[in-house]
Amino acid sequence: MKTPLHERSLVLVKPDGVQRALVGDIISRFEKKGLKIVGMKMVWADAKLAEEHYDMPKEDKQALGERTIAAYEEKGKKIDKTPVEVAEDVQRRLIKYITTGPVVAMVIEGAHSIAHIRKIRGHTNPLAADVGTITADLTIDSYFISDPDERAIRNLVHASGSPEEAKREIDLWFKKDELHDYDLAIEKVLYSKDWEATRKDLVEGK
Ligand code: GDP
Ligand code: MG
Repeated sequence: MKTPLHERSLVLVKPDGVQRALVGDIISRFEKKGLKIVGMKMVWADAKLAEEHYDMPKEDKQALGERTIAAYEEKGKKIDKTPVEVAEDVQRRLIKYITTGPVVAMVIEGAHSIAHIRKIRGHTNPLAADVGTITADLTIDSYFISDPDERAIRNLVHASGSPEEAKREIDLWFKKDELHDYDLAIEKVLYSKDWEATRKDLVEGK
């Protein structure tokens, strides 16, 4: 089995995180975990970048729409649109939200980084998030508050959900020469004295 030792994820501190001066708190959670920031910059996304970022295949739109409709119905609200139409409404709100101010964009690397980062970020809906996660600790927003306002939930951080999503998003936000290769101290701690060789073994899955 190939261990994803150098798995990468695109992480965005969204405009609410920047405006609420939570950038340091958010980044430090990833740093303390032992993940490696290999690229970082502040970007005020234009509509084109935001649209590309939130573009998704039809199946994903269908799934997002179905989830959103189910969440509305749970609250007793009937929706007369198709799941794809509902997903497109959500997408429009997401684009509006992410372009309201600058974001801090990062590429974060490490073994199983996508899964670790998603755990640290917490549930998409802060009301459902476990204590200790970013969405549980740092915001009180919920779909209950955001849906009637017809706005995207302000959940502070975006993090890629899969290796395929990460690749697409990293290529969209970063140029190759904006990503850096260097060693973190934890890599030496975890991978022993002979860590270069160990790393090679891990990558090759020996
Ligand atoms: P994430 O990767 O966990 O941030 O979430 P998704 O990729 O599943 O969805 C992207 C965004 O769509 C979320 O950040 C929410 O703003 C929005 N969204 C997802 N699911 C729902 C839902 O059930 N209801 C509403 N109103 N918005 C949703
Ligand atoms: Mg997502």
